[in-house]
Amino acid sequence: MEAKGRRVIASGTDGKKVERSVAVVTGSARGIGRASACALARRGFDLALADRLEAELAETERLVRDIGADVMILTGDVSDHADVQEKGRAVIERFGRVDVLVNNAGVSQPKSLIEISEEEYDRTIAINLKSCFSWCKAVAPTMLEQKAGRIVNISSVSAHMGANANAVSKFAYVTAKAGMLGMTRALCKELAPYITVNAICPGAVRTDLTSALFDKRAEKLVETIPLGRIGTPEDIAEVVAFLATVSPNFITGEVIDVDGGQYVN
Ligand code: NAD
Repeated sequence: MEAKGRRVIASGTDGKKVERSVAVVTGSARGIGRASACALARRGFDLALADRLEAELAETERLVRDIGADVMILTGDVSDHADVQEKGRAVIERFGRVDVLVNNAGVSQPKSLIEISEEEYDRTIAINLKSCFSWCKAVAPTMLEQKAGRIVNISSVSAHMGANANAVSKFAYVTAKAGMLGMTRALCKELAPYITVNAICPGAVRTDLTSALFDKRAEKLVETIPLGRIGTPEDIAEVVAFLATVSPNFITGEVIDVDGGQYVN
């Protein structure tokens, strides 16, 4: 298979060119993360897949291997900073480089400010926001050495809109997702000119995170989406792949809403 996304990085001992680009995708056991891993594999990336769900991660591994990618599995909790640093080192040791980081792992948090406990707030921020800091910290020095790298943060349109009373996720989730937009803008300047940092804000996308709620009110929800349907993980994954591969690349610090027009500003 011709691997479009790969760049020549070294000569093998047999004199042949060794080619590969490497992407880390967090939360890649299912949903948007799995679809993104597959979309990147189709563009010739090798993958480091991070998630806490072992069985589902093994299924993503099978899918991307079938497409032709080399794969490294990183099972663990993205909110564990020390563990993420170790995993980052392991990826660099195994593949020798990191070209793309997709910060996608996230959990919903349905409680309002009045309902949420301090512990629940801290946990939501740790998984949805601090994990992005930890993974950027783990791979950005290598990207800087390479003078090349792309970071894609998966935020949410709720970062713009806040959350309605019947939303899947409220206060702490929205706060974390808005924090990701600030992080995107800060890092776009700090890591320029070699590393681009962009965010995607998905709207309503049918995944394990959202299915139960969408089932209850699909018709009403669709009425709020100009394109007239709920999104799929592939809708988001194709934009991840675009940001990971567009060439020449003059996009950084940008926030792309992929929401069928639900949030029009
Ligand atoms: P999902 O629940 O299917 O996938 C999230 C993945 O993150 C899961 O595989 C889960 O195991 C992993 N994860 C969660 N906590 C983790 C932890 N502590 N350590 C390691 N892995 C962990 O959900 P999804 O809908 O595919 O969501 C992907 C991203 O998109 C999330 O950040 C979510 O907030 C965002 N998003 C989703 C929607 C939507 O409508 N589905 C809308 C806006 C934003």
